[in-house]
Amino acid sequence: MTLESTMQDFPLTITSILRHGASVHAASEVVTFEGDGSRRATFGEVATRITRLASALQQLGIEAGDRVGTFGWNTQEHLEAYLGIPCMGAVLHTLNIRLFPDQLTYVVNHAEDRVVLVDDNLVPLLAKVAGDLKTVERFVVMGDGDASALRDVRPDVDILRYEELLAGGSEQFDWPELDERSAAAMCYTSGTTGNPKGVVYSHRSNVLHSMAACMAGSMAVTEDDRILPIVPMFHANAWGLPYAGWMSGADFVLPARFLQAAPLCRLIERERPTFSGAVPTIWADLLRYSEEHPVDLSSIRMIVCGGSAVPRSLIEAFRQKHDVRIVQAWGMTETSPLAAVAHAPAGTPESEEIDWAAKTGRIVPGVELRIVDDAGNALPWDGEAVGEIEVRGPWITGAYYRDPSPEKFDDGWLRTGDVGSVEPNGFIQITDRAKDVIKSGGEWISSVELEGHLMAHPDVVEASVVGVPDPRWTERPLACVVRKPGSDVTAADLREFLATRVAHWQLPERWAFIDEVPKTSVGKFDKKVLRARHSDGELAVEELP
Ligand code: ADP
Repeated sequence: MTLESTMQDFPLTITSILRHGASVHAASEVVTFEGDGSRRATFGEVATRITRLASALQQLGIEAGDRVGTFGWNTQEHLEAYLGIPCMGAVLHTLNIRLFPDQLTYVVNHAEDRVVLVDDNLVPLLAKVAGDLKTVERFVVMGDGDASALRDVRPDVDILRYEELLAGGSEQFDWPELDERSAAAMCYTSGTTGNPKGVVYSHRSNVLHSMAACMAGSMAVTEDDRILPIVPMFHANAWGLPYAGWMSGADFVLPARFLQAAPLCRLIERERPTFSGAVPTIWADLLRYSEEHPVDLSSIRMIVCGGSAVPRSLIEAFRQKHDVRIVQAWGMTETSPLAAVAHAPAGTPESEEIDWAAKTGRIVPGVELRIVDDAGNALPWDGEAVGEIEVRGPWITGAYYRDPSPEKFDDGWLRTGDVGSVEPNGFIQITDRAKDVIKSGGEWISSVELEGHLMAHPDVVEASVVGVPDPRWTERPLACVVRKPGSDVTAADLREFLATRVAHWQLPERWAFIDEVPKTSVGKFDKKVLRARHSDGELAVEELP
């Protein structure tokens, strides 16, 4: 017979994160960039506003389980929503501001958002779809910019101002006792294929994920940090940084809409963040900018970078030019998202650290992982065998919201759609997304590997490799390359460069020089678009003999 423990059955809720940050770290600050200057507030002040927000939403009739959407940049108000909405029992639904209009309409209607908080400068964007948002009863505009575009399309709906809403709220609010398994927040995948799929996070999953995010072996967030989340709060929960930072009392430096390299560098120099997170394209932009402008990044102790494979050359350049450590991480909307972080194992000589940093990541405690072959058999962790990665754990989704997708699950495991290998010490190396793998003859070619090598060439700004139909081999790689301005490097030069790095049979014959690699709504290379451009004959392809 099992013995009952004597431990309190205390629920894991975001409310406890809120209380901890508000009391223990009341003096920590939230800075929001405004382009020239910044506005600031202490956690204590922000907590008061969070209480007002919750009570005001309750006065509006928002009840437990109701969905409240946010359509905004990374700002203090967005952070307030992150805490206030779940803690009052409602469900925070972060909306991706870069989704195509029909996808945005789909996710708001599918989630049945009752209220949407929107940044004033995004009002025109939201107004484009507002007429189709069937369940929204109120828009709340953050900032005092013009909101007439929304009023014009939705004369039937209340349009409130965030500050007025807060002013009408109370500083006394009885935070409800919540079931730790109840929904706290939701986020839809960016829908690379088909309709976006909704993931619903619980209070419990968020608390456990936040603790994992603070662990020294992952992001090691502490009160000493000043966190600059460049990754949007609508992209997989800004990788857990809002709750991890609040819980540890780290200051926040929030970039709002100023996401180009020049203002970001200005912000970094002024506010001296110690920690930041963003997809590789942002860091590549910043690096290029820093080649032409003197930039001081010395305040940063660690950058977490993921969302797509991080080129080794990027990690090397940040170390060499700025003495800044980029640590790669892997995850997805479905995994909250932290699942693996690439810190070198103990005892790694300094000269070899980069080899580990350039891998995809080492599994975070709490996440269980396996790789399986096409028949569903588990493969060994030997760093060689390649299969689909499956994960399970307390912050991994076990279903999609009102969207049964049995093909995405395998006996309690989430099928990630990522293909890779695992070292005996739990380091994974993703070689591709299953749908991006290039099947040449009987062999698989890793597009990620070819891209990584190409982007290490000094004349290459970006490179994306996709599989295209080939009469003899079924598929062969097509390398789409963005050259540095003024460079006249040729396809033959690049192939020669690759030839010393990958097996001969993997070398692309087909090359296209393009102006820019198309990007998804969260800044990843959009291979679907590249493949379509190729099949529509829009790319000028050079074929080497
Ligand atoms: P979407 O699936 O719409 O792109 P997500 O941000 O949830 O939205 O994407 C998760 C996917 O991003 C992963 O399944 C994986 O393919 C990719 N990814 C994330 N981090 C990495 C990484 N470090 N290396 C390679 N791929 C990554």
